[in-house]
Amino acid sequence: MNLVLMGLPGAGKGTQAERIVEKYNIPHISTGDMFRAAIKDSTELGLQAKSFMDKGELVPDEVTIGIVRERLSQDDCSQGFLLDGFPRTVAQAEALEKILSDLDRQLQYVINIDVDKNILMDRLTGRRICKSCGATYHLVFNPPAVNDVCDRCGGELYQRADDNEETVQNRLDVNLKQTQPLLDFYEAKGYVRNINGQQDINIVFEDINKLLSTLR
Ligand SMILES: [Zn+2]
Repeated sequence: MNLVLMGLPGAGKGTQAERIVEKYNIPHISTGDMFRAAIKDSTELGLQAKSFMDKGELVPDEVTIGIVRERLSQDDCSQGFLLDGFPRTVAQAEALEKILSDLDRQLQYVINIDVDKNILMDRLTGRRICKSCGATYHLVFNPPAVNDVCDRCGGELYQRADDNEETVQNRLDVNLKQTQPLLDFYEAKGYVRNINGQQDINIVFEDINKLLSTLR
């Protein structure tokens, strides 16, 4: 099964990715892991990527795409793969189509874990941390017994700057803007399957399983 996994921050992509690769025994291919492996193995492309990263620059598409091509050509991908974090742009998606066609393969599903933006806001801004002992809470998933007070030590809870409404809103908007053209591209090819990510994580995984059972 040749899959791409998509979803905005907070949609639960990481959890579902872990479960999919475990159950179906296919490699989880995230851009970060791929770069790290290529650099560790000192492949030519890995060294090129490293030279950009060391300078604090973005790795150019041609290098990233080359690394994806190398990775997807490896033996452990012969039964399929789950791509996560790649492609990010339509140009990369087009390159992926080319890579797969060269390998005599085809993408099967683009699994999009769909969660309403307001719910993502609640999920992503809900974290609170104790000033005294560092314990973490979540207003929705793991609330303290008393508002703004640490259950463990009675310390005051605060919200990290990264978790504040404006920062999160901004992060989601950037992601949405980037993702939409990609979803449109894949929608036109008939690959996109939307999974309702607003359910319990076990139900989300069941829905993904129902979808993937059609590939077997
Ligand atoms: Zn505390």
